[in-house]
Amino acid sequence: MSTVAEAEAQPLYTFPPPGPLWRHEAKQASNNSEHEPESQQRAKQIFQNAVAATAPRHNWTKEEISAIYHQPLMELSFRAGTLHRRFHSPSSVQLCTLMNIKTGGCTEDCTYCAQSTRYQSGTGLPAKRVETVSSVLEAARLAKANGSTRFCMGAAWRDMRGRKNALRNISEMISGVRAMGMEVCVTLGMISPSQAQELKAAGLTAYNHNLDTSREFYPSVISTRSYDERLQTLSHVRDAGISVCSGGILGLGETDTDRVGLLHTVSTLPTHPESFPVNALVPIKGTPLGDRKPVEFTTMLRTIAAARIVMPATIIRIAAGRKTMAEEQQMLCFMAGANAIFTGEKMLTTECNGWDEDKEMFARWGLEAMESFRKGTA
Ligand code: SF4
Repeated sequence: MSTVAEAEAQPLYTFPPPGPLWRHEAKQASNNSEHEPESQQRAKQIFQNAVAATAPRHNWTKEEISAIYHQPLMELSFRAGTLHRRFHSPSSVQLCTLMNIKTGGCTEDCTYCAQSTRYQSGTGLPAKRVETVSSVLEAARLAKANGSTRFCMGAAWRDMRGRKNALRNISEMISGVRAMGMEVCVTLGMISPSQAQELKAAGLTAYNHNLDTSREFYPSVISTRSYDERLQTLSHVRDAGISVCSGGILGLGETDTDRVGLLHTVSTLPTHPESFPVNALVPIKGTPLGDRKPVEFTTMLRTIAAARIVMPATIIRIAAGRKTMAEEQQMLCFMAGANAIFTGEKMLTTECNGWDEDKEMFARWGLEAMESFRKGTA
């Protein structure tokens, strides 16, 4: 298992370069642009080309993504916001409600998760049975009445092997929510090609399966399933014609290099995920990461902006951790390209910003809820 110190690598390009801090010095330096290191000139060129994009591309190198990710934050966010406006309506934000349909009792060892049985003695979270179809549909109705247009259901399972009855019930939930005119997403762990097809036949819009972090850092976070197994599930989802929702968690102890690595993996898939959730770790007492310090907001913003640039057509979702963000911080994220949030009473096992609070925030800033099955296209 690699340590954070071992994993910490230097960015390919650092900004700003050691140099002038004051205007007169900067002027002098600008007269000496021929002295700008070649690596820095190349990074600028990569960035300029990236923000001029008119279509998504899939052949990014880690070097290019690193050059984008390490741009000065103000410039990075502004340019990401400009690109966002080329691909999306900037005032349109998707409202999703995420319900836990089966809590706790999971056999996996994800070190951030309260639902793993391995940490149950520390977290005290009891395992529950799967929710009934009628209670889930009631929750979806409430979400719709409050303005949510996408309803996501999460179950704490490693995979769906041997869960025929559960899959049948979940298919019924999916059809019921679709009949309300909402988008439906589920996250059930690893699934096989035939299970993906069954979910598609029930009307599933999207399947969530996060990669969490870079391939290199991943073994420090989870040992019970591999990065390749996760990618395989994403490929089964894609092959079944279901939209892919796959993102990461920041604040696990990863480095900038890992965040660049995650962005590289998702942005070089044959088709970009339609949705990329950016989670800030919510440390839960009793889990191995329960004492971690919250990730810096600037890291969150930088990751969102870089994600917007390398996957311009994707919906970028502010996921866990939004509850701790000031309203102005959330707006910076929207300006830099985020265009979806989770809203409602709960987000799996953690607190979530409520519908009323979000409605008021949207009204203050002139944001509007994205309609179902629309991507807020510009
Ligand atoms: S697979 Fe999901 S529910 Fe299970 S421990 Fe990991 S994050 Fe938690």
